[in-house]
Amino acid sequence: MSLAFDDYGRPYIILREQGSKKRMKGLEAYKSNILAAKAIANTLSSSLGPKGMDKMLVSADGDVSVTNDGATIVEKMEIQHPTAKLLVELSQSQDAEIGDGTTGVVVLAGKLLEQALTLLDKGIHPLKISDGFDRACDVAIKHLDQIAEEIDIQQNDHEALIQAACTALGSKVVSKRKRELGKIAVTAVLDVADLTRKDVNLDLIKIQTKTGGSVEDTRLISGILIDKDMSHPQMKKEVTDAKICLLTCPFEPPKPKTKHNINISNAEDYKKLYQQEQQYFVDMVKLVKNSGANIALCQWGFDDEANHLLLQNELPAVRWVSGTDVELIAMATGARIIPRFQEITPQKLGKAGSIREVQFGTSNERMLVIENCQCTKAVTILIRGGSQMIVDEAKRSIHDAICVIRNLIKDNRIVYGGGSAELACALQVLQYADEVSSVEQYAVRSFADALEGIPNCLADNCGLNPITSVAQAKSRQLAEKNPRIGIDCMELGTSDMKEQKIYETLSSKKQQIQLATQVVKMILKIDDVIAPDDY
Ligand code: ADP
Ligand code: MG
Repeated sequence: MSLAFDDYGRPYIILREQGSKKRMKGLEAYKSNILAAKAIANTLSSSLGPKGMDKMLVSADGDVSVTNDGATIVEKMEIQHPTAKLLVELSQSQDAEIGDGTTGVVVLAGKLLEQALTLLDKGIHPLKISDGFDRACDVAIKHLDQIAEEIDIQQNDHEALIQAACTALGSKVVSKRKRELGKIAVTAVLDVADLTRKDVNLDLIKIQTKTGGSVEDTRLISGILIDKDMSHPQMKKEVTDAKICLLTCPFEPPKPKTKHNINISNAEDYKKLYQQEQQYFVDMVKLVKNSGANIALCQWGFDDEANHLLLQNELPAVRWVSGTDVELIAMATGARIIPRFQEITPQKLGKAGSIREVQFGTSNERMLVIENCQCTKAVTILIRGGSQMIVDEAKRSIHDAICVIRNLIKDNRIVYGGGSAELACALQVLQYADEVSSVEQYAVRSFADALEGIPNCLADNCGLNPITSVAQAKSRQLAEKNPRIGIDCMELGTSDMKEQKIYETLSSKKQQIQLATQVVKMILKIDDVIAPDDY
């Protein structure tokens, strides 16, 4: 400890220990990293599957959320440990690429790490382990291609898509309403999908939450719904053939910058200033009117004077439109976002069939819906529910379902869920292990065991005996040569996941296995951790 003085002569104390670092090397580093990451995976494993548990997460400022979504759980856990953070990123990259399967990917990584730990204890070199995992991963991915089935997404009123959406929704709080919500999600995606290019721009599906009512009241609205009303209650409630002026500048006279003063010494000057300010408003409204616009949507607010003037000039207006809404409206209606009143031209206006105020349920609250947009079709899913927690979780669940449907439109191949695909891959990997003559053989076997961990976990979570149910499923898969046998989580009397219609996208399963292997390999390559002392 020593005393020093800063530029102003104030004393301060320097603590020597502050700079010290903790260092872990070799086996100790591997193990500590693996244990930290495994702890995260263990937390998530009870959330996997249709009977998985939810987590309640309380943030530092007391916000509570209840969720079953892997990516959300790990994000809100505020994890500090550097290797554990890799699993957070793992879940998030699955979320970004695929949207669903965010719990599964972390659980699988955890199982792989568990196996790696045993192998390390046996004295196998980490690089050999990671090599073996890599080879096993390739075998599993190839096998997935083989057992995948193509589905006809058009057939039977898009039944396959609805089923896939139901699988995604089945594990969530809203699972009671999975069929209705699944249908809504399918219709929404198909509404904005470009089936010839096999592409869906998910930005065109707006998910709006509004507490009140119940989850059954959730519905699809064709058009953009914004949670705002006209700025003045006496303005027109409906504008047909709307020409929209989309502004990101406030209806306000320019304010003097902080450094400037205006000195007003007599009433005359005050009046002049007042008139000048009024003139600003008049000019602004004129500029909007002259362009031919019949409605103004403004990202900022405006005061009562301006509001009144807009009313007088019969120009309906909406204030405080959110930034994301502004972008969506611009995209759908072809409006250009206008940052200055001087730049308004007729060409920059967006067009829509109508903009009107709508009311939902028995509440007095109104929202605006923009329909028949000129450029692209955009839809809104309005989620209702008893509390903020429910609507938030419903939003996350519907997001998962929408992603699954999008993925199926891009690539219509599926594998079956309930752990059946993982089990089939595990069996294939085991077979391959016999062909490997080097030390990697152990790692390849362990990879198969890790894959089995998924059906194991599913069975455990729904109260079945994991060892017997997995053993049964395994022997049936082998005996019947049927890769669709999984865990009958809902106890429907059949383990054939095709009969149960548990669809998962091939892309999601592939991504899960690949990402999990990648992260585990990465963790296995770290043999030296240098961190500040307080880790
Ligand atoms: P994730 O966040 O990884 O999508 P979920 O909690 O949605 O996690 O669980 C997905 C897992 O649950 C998948 O392995 C899927 O096959 C399985 N699953 C979903 N529904 C069923 C069901 N009805 N019966 C058996 N397994 C199911
Ligand atoms: Mg899911």
